[in-house]
Amino acid sequence: MSHTVPDLNAQLARLPAVERVMSLSEAAAAISAHGRTQVLDAVRAVLDTLRREVLAGEVLAPETYAASEVLQQAGQHLAARAQPRLRSVFNLSGTVLHTNLGRALLPDDAVRAVLEALVRPMNLEFDLDTGRRGERDDLIEPLICELTGAEAATVVNNNAAAVLLTLAALASRKEVIVSRGELVEIGGAFRIPDIMSRAGAKLREVGTTNRTHLKDYAEAITARSAMLMKVHCSNYAMSGFTKSVELDELAPLARQHGLPVVVDLGSGTLTDLTQWGLPAEPTVRATLEAGADIVTFSGDKLLGGPQAGLIVGREAWIRQIRRHPLKRALRVGKLTLAALEPVLQLYRAPEQLRERLTTLRLLTRPAAEMQAAAQRVLPVLQRALGERYALSVEPMLSQIGSGALPVEQLPSYGLAVRHAAARRGGRMLLQAEATLRGWPRPVLGRIKDDTLWLDLRCLEAADEADLIAQCEAMTR
Ligand SMILES: *Cc1c(COP(=O)(O)O)cnc(C)c1O
Repeated sequence: MSHTVPDLNAQLARLPAVERVMSLSEAAAAISAHGRTQVLDAVRAVLDTLRREVLAGEVLAPETYAASEVLQQAGQHLAARAQPRLRSVFNLSGTVLHTNLGRALLPDDAVRAVLEALVRPMNLEFDLDTGRRGERDDLIEPLICELTGAEAATVVNNNAAAVLLTLAALASRKEVIVSRGELVEIGGAFRIPDIMSRAGAKLREVGTTNRTHLKDYAEAITARSAMLMKVHCSNYAMSGFTKSVELDELAPLARQHGLPVVVDLGSGTLTDLTQWGLPAEPTVRATLEAGADIVTFSGDKLLGGPQAGLIVGREAWIRQIRRHPLKRALRVGKLTLAALEPVLQLYRAPEQLRERLTTLRLLTRPAAEMQAAAQRVLPVLQRALGERYALSVEPMLSQIGSGALPVEQLPSYGLAVRHAAARRGGRMLLQAEATLRGWPRPVLGRIKDDTLWLDLRCLEAADEADLIAQCEAMTR
């Protein structure tokens, strides 16, 4: 109809001009925060949307046409866009070393060292004794050797990289003998057979899924063999009619043939965890003592440090690994080295480790402490979630995570959230879970058996205060 055309034009004409919005006195703050270009683009985008809505025949509220309203909308878009995508959360999942939540949390000394490395030049590859170029490995190698008993050590970006580099350097175009029972997949698409082929090594499987004998290894050794490899079955456990060959049996066989034994230990710990009542996990030192020539392990699992892959063992093999061109591609940055050194230093004082190493402190938290925290959080969280939910303080089980000791569970305390009308469990719980996940600092729990479990093992004092403050802010 022809009469609607001038009508639309009149409405479009009521929209403020871009210059008018930009010249508002309030625009100065937005420009100072985000820069002129971004503000201009955001204002144009808001006006474009309004224009489209008018042309689509929508009736806009009168205040929509105000320049200040347009600016405010543009400001909201910009603020939302400026929100970092990587944010801190509350890990109440019950998994201490949660790969999806960044694994180990760093102790204070490491945090300070990283801060310094961020803003100051460091002697990363500079030998302060001679004034000449240095090697970044030199900074940390003696400390790693001291703590593990290894002859030599090198560090790369993560343990997957450590395995890849070791295979590429020592087994390219040759065969690696591995038990079928150890051809594992570790979360996030790390499969030993795939890494092997990427490294240009040929997998020589021996034994069966549940049983492998020493003679299986012996019969597989040929002139094409490069190494015998063992992979720690971090994320699953076998039981029943099983047999695997222990290192102390395997090492003499390898030595007879002049081949190295390489062990991917996965989590790898530097101390005997049973002294704190935790389940047993092989230490790096014991693995070397049992005859491993090379051991690889992660920096951010039980070690409690930054993401890194440590390769330790015999000097001659480590030298060969270090010389491989992939080493340069997989090397660690200064922030990693800055964080790793103070974490390793903590291991020199074993009697203080439980208190100072965040990972160990969380893994060994007294139940009474978590129970008391749960009692303090309960009333504020109850008010924030409302009467539809019934909260209670309950015992639950945490796990270490990151594939370490998959079968073991640690007795813990936290809050169980259920729907107040018992029968309406499922969907309402999903809603509570989504609500908590949507908070400014998202709260992440775990749903199981019609209950949302909020395990407080990883909620230490400062975080508890933050969580309580957030619950109060979320209570309307
Ligand atoms: C975790 C793990 C890896 C991978 O280590 P990242 O540090 O995550 O790269 C490799 N092998 C084993 C046995 C593991 O447990």
